[in-house]
Amino acid sequence: MKTYQVNENGYYGEFGGAYIPEILHRCVTELQQKYLEMLQSRPFTEKYHQLLRDYAGRPSPLYLAPRLSEMYGCRIYLKREDLNHTGSHKINNALGQILLARQMGKTRIIAETGAGQHGVATATVCALMQMECVVYMGRTDVERQRINVQKMEMLGARVVPVTSGNMTLKDATNEAIRDWCCHPSDTYYLIGSTVGPHPYPDMVARLQSVISAEIQHQLKEKEGRSYPDYLIACVGGGSNAAGSVYHYIDDRRVRIILAEAGGQGIASGQSAATIQLGRRGILHGARTLVMQNEDGQIEEPYSISAGLDYPGIGPMHANLSETKRADVLAVDDREALAAGLRLTRLEGIIPALESAHALGALDKITFHKDDVVVLTLSGRGDKDMLTYIEANNS
Ligand SMILES: *Cc1c(COP(=O)(O)O)cnc(C)c1O
Repeated sequence: MKTYQVNENGYYGEFGGAYIPEILHRCVTELQQKYLEMLQSRPFTEKYHQLLRDYAGRPSPLYLAPRLSEMYGCRIYLKREDLNHTGSHKINNALGQILLARQMGKTRIIAETGAGQHGVATATVCALMQMECVVYMGRTDVERQRINVQKMEMLGARVVPVTSGNMTLKDATNEAIRDWCCHPSDTYYLIGSTVGPHPYPDMVARLQSVISAEIQHQLKEKEGRSYPDYLIACVGGGSNAAGSVYHYIDDRRVRIILAEAGGQGIASGQSAATIQLGRRGILHGARTLVMQNEDGQIEEPYSISAGLDYPGIGPMHANLSETKRADVLAVDDREALAAGLRLTRLEGIIPALESAHALGALDKITFHKDDVVVLTLSGRGDKDMLTYIEANNS
């Protein structure tokens, strides 16, 4: 059977692989050889699931949103990742990787962060495990995400502002890779999304797959069948989407909709719609779709949502799009803001701006009355209040 999962060489179709500097070869090969066995081992799964339950607050509810359903004329369930500890799905991955790092005998953790959600999740699990933590963050993001910087520092992490390039997520990732090259033996690089060299995309997808495992159970209970007609998620690097589709990826009854950030519009030059605007290239260790100019220089992405503001995309998602297994919709700033406000007023839930892009995709689909739709609400909107307020005033 054709599968959309990764193959043994770390590829999803033509995307993926591990394009890394020589100095990291040993670290990455070690991880490639060990990750599956570690993830499937009894001590790991027991500890991981105990932490997901008692520390992160899982399972997250699957909420049938009555007024949203009425508005779109179908049955819409929200997978409430916004209710997790630290406010998003990022904690699922951070908890898993910190356990792996510990098992591998690493003593120092590094991470990149954009909006700061992954930085906060990483600083949190480092406090939990008493590990040293260094977080690289573009200076632009440090300035616009003050509270998250202060949270990371309060948790005991060192936040290093990065001043190269656009001073955002891509530059922070470059700097984290540079650090890793200098400390390959004691340092573990805790990547926050389904990006980077193999095995990271698959490892992160597996650690987030608890989302779709829970959806299967919860739908079975509520609908009498374990699969939805539609799965909808936003994509930055792709981890909440990968987790939401993981157990359905080869089930053709389920339509997969990925919402990427259109910014001010696909053709505006101010966009982060990587799947639609990107071309084949190599970014941060993987062959994938990359926003780039004719000379292969990375184009600076733009989105109102810092978590979607990335010029690449996970290789899994590049392949899902390329093979037409997923439909990719661009949702622009204005549509996302309106969708975020709508959910707030209809259901009393203020979503993260990233998640608001998934909600914005609802307007672009024609549903039937019996359709069962699951939309992943990847995070809560607390961190985005200033943006919501400014948008409302302008
Ligand atoms: C980081 C983040 C995203 C984007 O990252 P993915 O890896 O694509 O999931 C989406 N939503 C929230 C709330 C985030 O914090």
